[in-house]
Amino acid sequence: MDKGRAREIELSVVVPVFNEAANIGLLCDRLATVLERITPDWEILFVDDGSGDATLARIRERHALEPRIGAVSFSRNFGKEIAIAAGLDHARGRAVVLIDADLQHPPELIETFVTKWREGYVMVYAQRTSRETESAVKRGFARLFYRLFRAFGETALPEGAGDFRLIDRKGVEALKAMGERARFSKGLYAWIGYPAIGVPYTVAERAHGTTKWSFRKLLRFAFDGITSFSTVPLRVWTYVGLMISLASIVTALYFLVRTLLFGTDLPGYPSLIVSVMFFAGIQLMSLGMIGEYVGRIFAEVKRRPLYLVAERIGPEDGTPRPLI
Ligand code: UDP
Ligand code: MG
Repeated sequence: MDKGRAREIELSVVVPVFNEAANIGLLCDRLATVLERITPDWEILFVDDGSGDATLARIRERHALEPRIGAVSFSRNFGKEIAIAAGLDHARGRAVVLIDADLQHPPELIETFVTKWREGYVMVYAQRTSRETESAVKRGFARLFYRLFRAFGETALPEGAGDFRLIDRKGVEALKAMGERARFSKGLYAWIGYPAIGVPYTVAERAHGTTKWSFRKLLRFAFDGITSFSTVPLRVWTYVGLMISLASIVTALYFLVRTLLFGTDLPGYPSLIVSVMFFAGIQLMSLGMIGEYVGRIFAEVKRRPLYLVAERIGPEDGTPRPLI
């Protein structure tokens, strides 16, 4: 290309998509309208997380009409967290916006993000004012999760903040530098620090399709979040064990005194079985906890690539994450 260097990109919008064919068109229209008001130098980068439907075909159609729309397509479903990591790797903008494909995140809010960014904030996150669109059970679990994270975690999470946010290049580079496999973006966003600000918004209903998060996926996600940001679950068992041992000594003394004073009335068969089971349970729990961390160490030392790209639509200069 003789025209010299490619144009600098001001704003990249990264959209992780998993079977969202029905939402691509509407999302592109709404995003493009908003982005055009901000700068002509924008790009929309879809990360196709191994969709089995026409998602990629829809994106290809869009790319043919509007070259600023592109995609990175995974070889299989790697999960939203990893899709976001890939999006950050490939996005070229001076700032990157993360947004869901289902229009639950109003694209119009990006204008407010950009205003704040231009004021000097490195991280501008959308903070939902209510979780009304979600079921009571999901809300309950979310609340429990935040409470646990606050009690255990060494990093404070702003409540109601999700992935919908704008991150300045400085923050993007910081996030890219973290080669963690068990990715918990919400924690990582908070961990990097830098000036951050929340913008309140109301979550909309999903435009098409159903949620791509099964209960199992969510539970796994919450567990990953807590175990990758806290060592309390690992350490707490020492104290629990100590307390139980102390309690058992007290109980033993009580039985000793009682036997000396009143003699035995029953052989201690039931209490024996109960205590054996009790301690076996405790030991299993602590072993399980250690296993969690050992499993994590295993995943880290394997140094597998975080994801595999099967296809790239649009600009070729985004380099895949190196095998570190
Ligand atoms: N998503 C993804 N990979 C997955 C699950 C979800 O890329 O394995 C994407 C999905 O296409 C959507 C976003 O992540 O753009 C949020 O998913 P969803 O709306 O299902 O989550 P919810 O809003 O219910 O939390
Ligand atoms: Mg959604």
